Amino acid sequence: DEDRALLEGAGGFGDDDADDASLPVLAVIGRPNVGKSTLVNRILGRREAVVQDVPGVTRDRVRYTAEWAGRPFVLVDTGGWEHDARGLHARVAEQAEIAVELADAVMFVVDAAVGATDTDERVVRILRKSGKPVLLVANKVDDARGEADAAALWNLGLGEPFATSALHGRGSGDLLDAALAILPERSAVARPSGRGGPRRVALVGKPNVGKSSLLNSLTGSERVVVDDVAGTTRDPVDELIELGGRPWVFVDTAGIRRRVHQAQGADFYASLRTQAAIEKAEVAVVVVDASVPLTEQDIRVVQEVIDAGRALVIAYNKWDLMDPERRPFLEREIELDLVQVQWAPRVNISAKTRWHVDRVAKHLDTALESWDSRVPTGRLNAFLGELAAAHPHPVRSGKQPRVLFATQADTRPPRFVLFATGFLEPGYRRYIERRLRETFGFAGTPIQLSVRVRE
Ligand code: GDP
Ligand code: GDP
Repeated sequence: DEDRALLEGAGGFGDDDADDASLPVLAVIGRPNVGKSTLVNRILGRREAVVQDVPGVTRDRVRYTAEWAGRPFVLVDTGGWEHDARGLHARVAEQAEIAVELADAVMFVVDAAVGATDTDERVVRILRKSGKPVLLVANKVDDARGEADAAALWNLGLGEPFATSALHGRGSGDLLDAALAILPERSAVARPSGRGGPRRVALVGKPNVGKSSLLNSLTGSERVVVDDVAGTTRDPVDELIELGGRPWVFVDTAGIRRRVHQAQGADFYASLRTQAAIEKAEVAVVVVDASVPLTEQDIRVVQEVIDAGRALVIAYNKWDLMDPERRPFLEREIELDLVQVQWAPRVNISAKTRWHVDRVAKHLDTALESWDSRVPTGRLNAFLGELAAAHPHPVRSGKQPRVLFATQADTRPPRFVLFATGFLEPGYRRYIERRLRETFGFAGTPIQLSVRVRE
């Protein structure tokens, strides 16, 4: 019947974000000012002028779902970072490395009017080494006169340069056709996929909270499994570490061990790298420095984990430095700043002295178990029936939306689809989420609620 058809369709509609792990990923990279942001906007078909002429403006969102010829893909925008000449070379190179890790294919944008620079050449070497498919975009070819400039870029050795004008749209159709041709059907970027293999963990957090120290103490705490564990696909940047008697893949550890603490312009890269690590992981340990007050940057990392739909554990590190007089403040901070993640397991540790570091695995298990869990439809609907009887949705303008039934459409993280007679207000959704957590647990996992309105 109709309801069943709706329920069966429930798994198919996603939210509008780039959260489908199977979509192929295309990264747009290149020096500042070559037109990356303009190109990204062109691909997304956005009208609003997002391009910033103001130096120093960084955007926090870098992943979008785009579509061409009916095929969706994820577009990673690396534009919009600091237009600052210092250390440019190195930063463009790092951008290229991260993009390559993140993507199935790369669009490398060069300003055809300027021609290939030393920095461009350096990026070419990184791209070649990666073996990932690359499209060379010769941008700012606004008219036929620029074609010769584009042709000159053949000598970068990346194949045919695609002459485009991101600004006016010239050549963008051909470029996108070519992009689709090199993108795989499904993403091959190492991201959580198969069950059965070791679970994938990201250690994230702002600089200096102790990520690399924690990684070292975890590595040292038990025998390190060297290789061939069945079912592992592993990048060289990942490490296999045994905790609680089992191997775990710690993703993107090269980035942590390398400890690139650049003074300026590092924020954008730090955030890109954090995002890359979170994407590749099933569970993230957000490390914070317990000896000093939480900052917005800490909260932002927590938010990124939630937005990515990954399981979450918060590690309060440097507990050995904790001034007992600070403890009441800490509790208050946690209540205020982390109120939206009261559900995340917290573990107090000292990476330096290894105090309680062995407890991390237990919390990872808890979070992942919630992340994987499924509430049977019958139980869910019994729960919602009781909830609605005890606390119906408030009446608004003479109307009172009712939840007709619900199903858990997905796990990892749990996603619930509620079929209702009208729009449910945010407060009521939060109430449902809270009650879901009280009733079914879900410690350590974000949960998502979608509402389908049936007239
Ligand atoms: P990004 O730093 O690589 O993201 O570059 P932007 O997209 O911010 O573009 C830098 C500048 O180049 C902006 O002023 C754009 O308007 C301009 N621009 C981008 N694409 C083109 C193009 O195809 N032709 C021309 N003439 N200008 C462009
Ligand atoms: P990362 O930038 O997050 O990788 O942080 P690091 O691991 O490099 O640590 C930054 C600084 O904090 C270093 O000087 C560490 O020795 C120190 N540190 C890390 N963990 C602890 C800890 O548990 N206690 C103390 N006292 N210091 C720590």
